[in-house]
Amino acid sequence: MDASSSQIQVRVLPEEVSQPQVVRKAVERQLRKERRPAIGPEKELHVLRQSWDARKRPVRVQLLVGWDEGARKAQIQPWTWPHAEPNAKEVIIVGAGPAGLYAALECLRHGVRPIVLERGKNVRSRRRDLAKLNREHEVNPESNYCFGEGGAGTYSDGKLYTRSKKRGDIREALEWMVVHGADPHILVEAHPHIGTNRLPAVVTAMRETIEGAGGEVRFNTKVVDLLESQGACAGVEAVTLDDGNHHEVRGEAVILATGHSARDMFELMHAKGLEVEAKPFAMGVRVEHPQGWVNEVQYHGEVVEDRLPPASYSLVCQVEGRGVHSFCMCPGGIVAPCATSPGEIVTNGWSPSKRNNPYANSGMVVQVGPEDWEPLGFEGPLGGLRFQESVERACWEAAGKTQAAPAQRLTDFVAGRPSSDVPSTSYLPGVVPVRLDQVLPSVVAQSLQEGFQTFNRKMKGFVHRDAVVMGPESRTSSPVRIPRDPDTLQHPGLRQFYPTGEGGGYAGGILSAAMDGRKAAQAAVGLIG
Ligand SMILES: Cc1cc2nc3c(=O)[nH]c(=O)nc-3n(C[C@H](O)[C@H](O)[C@H](O)COP(=O)(O)OP(=O)(O)OC[C@H]3O[C@@H](n4cnc5c(N)ncnc54)[C@H](O)[C@@H]3O)c2cc1C
Repeated sequence: MDASSSQIQVRVLPEEVSQPQVVRKAVERQLRKERRPAIGPEKELHVLRQSWDARKRPVRVQLLVGWDEGARKAQIQPWTWPHAEPNAKEVIIVGAGPAGLYAALECLRHGVRPIVLERGKNVRSRRRDLAKLNREHEVNPESNYCFGEGGAGTYSDGKLYTRSKKRGDIREALEWMVVHGADPHILVEAHPHIGTNRLPAVVTAMRETIEGAGGEVRFNTKVVDLLESQGACAGVEAVTLDDGNHHEVRGEAVILATGHSARDMFELMHAKGLEVEAKPFAMGVRVEHPQGWVNEVQYHGEVVEDRLPPASYSLVCQVEGRGVHSFCMCPGGIVAPCATSPGEIVTNGWSPSKRNNPYANSGMVVQVGPEDWEPLGFEGPLGGLRFQESVERACWEAAGKTQAAPAQRLTDFVAGRPSSDVPSTSYLPGVVPVRLDQVLPSVVAQSLQEGFQTFNRKMKGFVHRDAVVMGPESRTSSPVRIPRDPDTLQHPGLRQFYPTGEGGGYAGGILSAAMDGRKAAQAAVGLIG
């Protein structure tokens, strides 16, 4: 039987989703409407997909409900990670973000032992460094919101969206999260998210699987060089950050999963004559609104209470041929200080699983490329990186050289005037009123000023008197691409070397990085047999 003949779409009210009898009645009604055969009361129904339809009042929930063959889609595969043999071949994985962790788990499925080297600390110790960053403005360049166990994904919103169309790969990547403790609801929800409070446990469970199956994860271990032998990568030179000891780690292949913030890795490759390329990316600000206002607009005044999730938005427009769009919107979220070095400000956002903070924040970014940074003197493969660095530094200087972020009322940003004060925000290190429209590169500021006015028409009242812009939002994706052969996934200049994840320019978020990490591991284990 075709699975589609045993599934159907129905629409119910939010409070009805948890009432199986109401859902069954909706299914029976819809079957009659579509003149399809009725199903007996003995059939078990499973919600396969859930999405929110808030186009008008009342807000409805759209469910894809399955039974028989259709319901089999709801089953999670019995995933196992067999123990590596004592003489198993070894692959070195640099970075324990989503790409690195998934690469390690994939290696184990093929009997290959992964050795994961991570400059940062485990989630528990990392948390202390984040507290210092928020309270004392101290940036630890090895342990921060981007570096440490789970990578940049650990203390994030954990939105699990991707533009990838590979449904099977997405489903499997989500299932791996569920078998490591994530709420199974992420398999059903059209826009799943895990939340900062839940992600650390999922990441820790993945590491425990890797270690339990004979793999290794070494924290405080920073890779500082690549070992080359006859055009192939034979391993890495690493330094143990606790004692400063340098040592070599050799393996059959090296998977580079260092993320978009490991500037030293891009610099190392460039210095060694390994090809890297400048890549366009997006830059802008974080904007924060009262969550209540977003709910009001998006739900047309319908009361949220416990019935509806905190509302989100997604906005996009073109300003003189240049894309301006919202990025990584965090309902009920917090704006986080995501610098990876002292002397810079970087903002990003996260939210807890319940998304129950009173603020809604989102990146608002503009596409920038070499044509924008080369006239400013930032040239060559690392031109975009230098441009990004210069903006982060300018924001740090403008706001008083701490982790306090430069901020402006959105109304003032759009009007191009100073803010005498700024409403309170969720950003824990605090904000300082600054003319962000003058600190940001003019192409970014002007595109945003126009873009915000368009968004104000699309979402009435967006330029809200209590909304605040903070900046910069500069680490949306990597400013550098590390090339790789489309078939072998190896770097064209170095065999057995596999750039993967967001750092190489092959992913744009947790899920796509995880899937790309798996792909890199499949290529690496395919090579070593
Ligand atoms: C606050 C915040 C919120 C976010 N929210 C979301 C979200 O909701 N949804 C989403 O999809 N994405 C989100 N992202 C982006 C997402 O986290 C990244 O896209 C994803 O983590 C990229 O995965 P990755 O494995 O490629 O790299 P990363 O996660 O960046 O991991 C790279 C790892 O490599 C390590 N490393 C770097 N250099 C070295 C070295 N020399 N030696 C050893 N180790 C090294 C780093 O310490 C790091 O742990 C967010 C990011 C941040 C910062």
